[in-house]
Amino acid sequence: VKGNNSYLTFEDMFLHDGLIAGLKICGFEKPSPVQVASIPYARLGCDLIIQAKSGTGKTCVYAVAILQSILDSQRNKTLSPSVMTTQAMIIVPTRELALQVAMIFSQLWKGVESVTKRINIVTCVGGVSVKQDHHALSKGFDIVIGTPGRIRNLVDSAVLPLEHIQMLIMDEADKLLESCFYKDLFAIEQHLPRWKQVMAFSATYSPSILSRLGRVMKEPRKITVLEETWVEKVPSNKTPIYAETSLCGITHYKAEMEGDLMVEDIFHIHLQTLISIFGEFSFHQCLVFCNDKSLLDRYSYGMRSAGFSADFTSGDLNQSMRNEIFQRFYSQKTQVLFTTDLLSRGIDFVDCNLVVNLDIPKTAETYLHRAGRAGRFGRFGNCVTIYSYQTISEIEQLESQLGIHFEYLLIEISVHVEE
Ligand code: ADP
Ligand code: MG
Repeated sequence: VKGNNSYLTFEDMFLHDGLIAGLKICGFEKPSPVQVASIPYARLGCDLIIQAKSGTGKTCVYAVAILQSILDSQRNKTLSPSVMTTQAMIIVPTRELALQVAMIFSQLWKGVESVTKRINIVTCVGGVSVKQDHHALSKGFDIVIGTPGRIRNLVDSAVLPLEHIQMLIMDEADKLLESCFYKDLFAIEQHLPRWKQVMAFSATYSPSILSRLGRVMKEPRKITVLEETWVEKVPSNKTPIYAETSLCGITHYKAEMEGDLMVEDIFHIHLQTLISIFGEFSFHQCLVFCNDKSLLDRYSYGMRSAGFSADFTSGDLNQSMRNEIFQRFYSQKTQVLFTTDLLSRGIDFVDCNLVVNLDIPKTAETYLHRAGRAGRFGRFGNCVTIYSYQTISEIEQLESQLGIHFEYLLIEISVHVEE
């Protein structure tokens, strides 16, 4: 699919009035290119592999398909009470993403709520007591959203009835089919009805992931949204990048760390570098990614001492802390969040327009997913990767893999190491 030449509107897609109202409540006036290209096929019940860049509105594709299908089945049920209403399962790689997706569904349903009945969305993620899931599921569900491990656990213990699930969604599908998750995924899929519709969403797919997807799909169609025409407006001094998976609206920078890189200084040099970067850009919110979680709390503490409202989160914190910190950043109560790749995928912090990589990401895909947090839905943002003279070759390799030239950001800091 190329460009957004289509004038198709949500109204043209034969959607329930309440759903159109819900889309308006979310501020979605016109469908984005991936929505135009995919919603009609999704509504037809095809198995789909959908590829479109970060922040282009993929969630809404499956949300609309699922909610419309539930509405259709509710209508059919009033005509013939023996008809089962549609149930859907959405699998995502992180707990935070599961919560976010659940919020989007509730939001979209708001327009419908006034005209019909409630919808039962159950979120099942690790770190929360399984009893809580049992309780929630015992009341029945329309949509279950969860992470692979927990869903598999519930499937294995036969708490999650699967026989009426007609739709299976894999969001961030390439992550889900990577080594640690894919066994769970296949185990879950085995228990689902054979005639279900399967849809996979991601910004990146490798050939091996595509062949794994082939095992759980029937004659899938692959929809790739290539061209980026979905930028609010292009300021004259910025040229957006049009590579296939790179991101429009995001400017990529590299900043060399100065100073004597004795190990004990690294922490201070990082903090000083960050503060200078914050001085360079006017930003609303910033995500700072680290490869290693051991220093996150110190960074966050150091930033707070420098006057920024900062927090940190990682898989090491307990789930209620993780939720609380996530919600605080999501609702813009904190400005800077230090994290690991836990938050590099799928999460939509609308006001985050700066991403900083304290360490060079391990793969080009990881870079794209991280950078994608800074420019949601065609908004402009910046991504800065910090490197040192020891990692020059790594950053050059990253640039060449991505086919992106990072602009050089000059950082001047003065580090005072106490005697
Ligand atoms: P992706 O999954 O492709 O990375 P998301 O589904 O998270 O992208 O959407 C990115 C952002 O775009 C979200 O803030 C979402 O609210 C917004 N968005 C999605 N579709 C539309 C639309 N049709 N009109 C306006 N904003 C939209
Ligand atoms: Mg997404």
